[in-house]
Amino acid sequence: MKRIYLDHNATTPVNPEVLKEMLPYFGEEYGNASSLHSFGRYAREAVEDARAKVSNLIGPVEPVDIVFTSGGTESDNFAIKGVAHALKSKGKHMITSEIEHHAVLNTCEFLAKNGYEVTYIPVDEYGLVDIGAVKKAVRPDTILISIMFANNEVGTIEPVKEVSAIAREKGVLFHTDAVQALGKIPIDVEEIGIDLLSISAHKIYGPKGTGALYINKKAKMTPFMHGGHHERNRRAGTENVAGIVGFGTACKLAGEYMEKENRRILALRDRLRDGINKNIGDVKLNGHPLMRLPNTLNISFKYVEGESVLLNLDLKGIAASSGSACTSGSLEPSHVLSAMGVEPATAQGSVRFSLGSENTEAEIDIVIKELPPIIKKLRDMSPLYDLRKK
Ligand code: PLP
Repeated sequence: MKRIYLDHNATTPVNPEVLKEMLPYFGEEYGNASSLHSFGRYAREAVEDARAKVSNLIGPVEPVDIVFTSGGTESDNFAIKGVAHALKSKGKHMITSEIEHHAVLNTCEFLAKNGYEVTYIPVDEYGLVDIGAVKKAVRPDTILISIMFANNEVGTIEPVKEVSAIAREKGVLFHTDAVQALGKIPIDVEEIGIDLLSISAHKIYGPKGTGALYINKKAKMTPFMHGGHHERNRRAGTENVAGIVGFGTACKLAGEYMEKENRRILALRDRLRDGINKNIGDVKLNGHPLMRLPNTLNISFKYVEGESVLLNLDLKGIAASSGSACTSGSLEPSHVLSAMGVEPATAQGSVRFSLGSENTEAEIDIVIKELPPIIKKLRDMSPLYDLRKK
């Protein structure tokens, strides 16, 4: 059975060109980038070359402002805990949104249990953060605003420029989790006014376990990995040279192909949306109709369980997800959809299709064909659907 992968917001396949660039660093170029001999120097050159490529995709910014990490989760932890510690004498209040990834939410929760105060900004029905609420929430003891660039579940693109303007005006640092935005929409850190930006390689056809945090020189940060003098004393630990090289190549390719490729993916996504709308009743699009990542389609199929839809799709070789990969399997309705005011029963029926580079029109047409009988079968078994018909 041919398998169709529509879960690119969870992770992406490694691009063959990325893999090709990485392979020598598992083999003959195995040096430690901190060593002085030729093995070390080659590894160091590769790391710095990758740093330049990553910095290009988010600006360009100065490569020295990029710190490599183990991924988006570490970057979020580093940004939030780093500022919390460095600025604790100024204040212990932070602002974030209700729809952040758990890498941000649980870090904030940890800090809240340790003497910090966190304000969670609500979102509207499309998942857009309430800018007025951000403005109102800033206090003299606020040290950080952390609002994601684009949401992983529904794809809504947040008004980060407006958030940054508030942060600038109030003299507060601004962090954004751009893990889902990277490679899908243009990011210009300086133009937007971002102090700290989290990114991850495996969402853009790079390897898992590699990411980065952009740190504006003005941002006061305490490192939270202690050890050697790696990454200019900001993140100790021997660099993951192969992973970093892969991240650099993935960023270079994303820069080259982003515009054209995302136009193609957006057309496929809208084909899927139109096919679903045409063939299945009682569906609801979650997320902003326009301000949305080009690859993301989050749909609630009313009167069914999203998990059941996923299992049935999986039997047909089609991979999608409900909520984020990190929360799938939990019976709680998604915190993102709840914050958007989606009824729990409707939220339970949500499925996220996230498209990517390998998807074709033929694949989308297979999904459009397979989905209606699955929804019909599940609705025929659903007591909720029976009640609705009466
Ligand atoms: N932030 C967002 C918005 C994400 O979607 C993810 C991954 O799903 C992460 C952070 C975590 O990134 P990583 O898997 O690299 O730790």
